[in-house]
Amino acid sequence: MAGRRSRRLVALLFAVMLMPCATSPSAAGNEANAAATTAATSKCDRAKFRIILDVGHTAESYGAMSARNVPEFEYNLNLGKRIEEKLKADGFSEAFLLVTDGKARPSLMKRVAVANKRGADLFLSIHHDSVPDIYVDKWEFEGKRRAFNDMFGGYSVFVSKLNPHFGASLRFARLLGNQMAGRDLQFARQYDQWFMGKFQRELLDIEAGVYRYDQLIVLKQTSMPAVLLESGSIINREEELVMASDEHKNKVAAAVASATLEYCETRGAAPPPLVAQPKPKDTTRHTASAAHRRVAQPRLAQQPQRTGKKR
Ligand SMILES: [Zn+2]
Repeated sequence: MAGRRSRRLVALLFAVMLMPCATSPSAAGNEANAAATTAATSKCDRAKFRIILDVGHTAESYGAMSARNVPEFEYNLNLGKRIEEKLKADGFSEAFLLVTDGKARPSLMKRVAVANKRGADLFLSIHHDSVPDIYVDKWEFEGKRRAFNDMFGGYSVFVSKLNPHFGASLRFARLLGNQMAGRDLQFARQYDQWFMGKFQRELLDIEAGVYRYDQLIVLKQTSMPAVLLESGSIINREEELVMASDEHKNKVAAAVASATLEYCETRGAAPPPLVAQPKPKDTTRHTASAAHRRVAQPRLAQQPQRTGKKR
């Protein structure tokens, strides 16, 4: 897709998508419930619960580049450390920060091998988001031309149906997404939209912001429940500043810690996964109103979709 007309259409679509539509669950309420559960009859032995915090990408193969020329890996590492600190402070002494080196693909195989050998109750991969190249604009920062996109933003949570513990992965993903949403964070709405092309994903939970991404190596080849979190977009000029702030890192760390505790408390009682309704293939009506209908209507039916988009 190229040209001014289609860009204007996408801008219009996205303005429509940004309109608030779902009410967020209360994180404070969730935390109070979790605390009450813990005080009464805790099923969670925090000191024994093992969570691997996988820092996305490596120093050498750093992932996305931010609007101000900071590699994604740095953002991932800083946030990963903050989450590890919070989990340990909350008694999850077995939280383990996994930092990998080397080139992109070997590093993916390496992190999966380390995680599977070590074993864990949960695997959480930590990332920051960008946009497809066609949506990149240019601006000048510190005397150099840099890429940016201010149209897209928000966190998102991904799971793979190919993970051997898909149900448990989805359960943790929902807990995490709800914790993020309960802290007034918006999820990235664009991923289930046609204009994302090969990056289009199936939306599994419209309140928690959980998408299905089957082919991610760290999600499909890990032997434990695995979830990938994109904390927010660093190519968005305003959101990059938010991502760098202590306030945001603390918010995400608290969301992960609360979700981990809820997951640990309720393990084994997973409900059958609810999956969003398959989207009808509609290649003829790419108008703002058609897109609005698709976005505004929560998909609550429980038909599993057989064909996932693959990279
Ligand atoms: Zn990444």
